[in-house]
Amino acid sequence: MSTSYERVLEHLQELKLNRTSVILDGYLERAAKEKIPLVESLDFLLKEEISYKNDTSLKTRTKVAGFPYQKTFEQFDFKFQPSIDSTTINELRTMRFVHQMENVIMLGPPGVGKTHLSISLGLEAIRNKFSTYYLNCHDLITSLNQAQFENKLNDRIRNLCKYKLLVIDEVGYLPIDQQGANLFFQLISKRYEKGSIIITSNKSFNQWDEIFGDASAAILDRLLHHSTTINIKGDSYRIKDRKSQLSGQSKKQTTV
Ligand code: ADP
Ligand code: MG
Repeated sequence: MSTSYERVLEHLQELKLNRTSVILDGYLERAAKEKIPLVESLDFLLKEEISYKNDTSLKTRTKVAGFPYQKTFEQFDFKFQPSIDSTTINELRTMRFVHQMENVIMLGPPGVGKTHLSISLGLEAIRNKFSTYYLNCHDLITSLNQAQFENKLNDRIRNLCKYKLLVIDEVGYLPIDQQGANLFFQLISKRYEKGSIIITSNKSFNQWDEIFGDASAAILDRLLHHSTTINIKGDSYRIKDRKSQLSGQSKKQTTV
């Protein structure tokens, strides 16, 4: 016959209270020594379990999201990019747009921080327990084409619709053929008013027919209906250091 201690361990395992299983021994000794009341003990153990579970699911959601890198708003130098309106960013950071199933479109030339900001928003969504998935447009179209070829397009689109927030990065960097544009439209129209999308693009809206051809108007119609557009006009952050190096060099040259 098993002892009550053994049964407690079994129950914890069955209930998947993994953190409690690990800390139980040490805690029981402490509770006995310090004569901690039962209610306080339960409070402590349950709190530990909840914070462990929250931590684990945060890690899992972050891994599932598949960001190419992790950068936060705190790491973004807003002074370098004055065209970005801080009120708009603060509003987006409240996550109301995810609750309302609205979209965010970030436009601007390369290096101005579109990917960085969309990842920061994605990480904040994850912290707020929203399932999030990142992919760049080229990989998305390839995967939709593949699914179409394998007769699994509906499954693939359904899968992409299960996330509360979908980040589609780099729209317009590579050409998309007619079939790709139609598949993209199908995804956008399935997610319309059902889940948020963040899109980044180096092309302004009036250049979108160069990306999507005939499907462009229908795609924009759905994307922009409930949306916030952030138009970043400024220098590339990537060449910032190169520029300062170059100006350092030229200063050196002039002083020689
Ligand atoms: P984009 O997607 O617009 O081409 P990224 O977001 O990939 O540009 O930015 C390029 C690199 O520069 C990234 O490493 C990003 O973290 C960094 N970066 C861009 N803008 C800023 C900024 N204002 N402050 C800090 N880092 C920035
Ligand atoms: Mg980018």
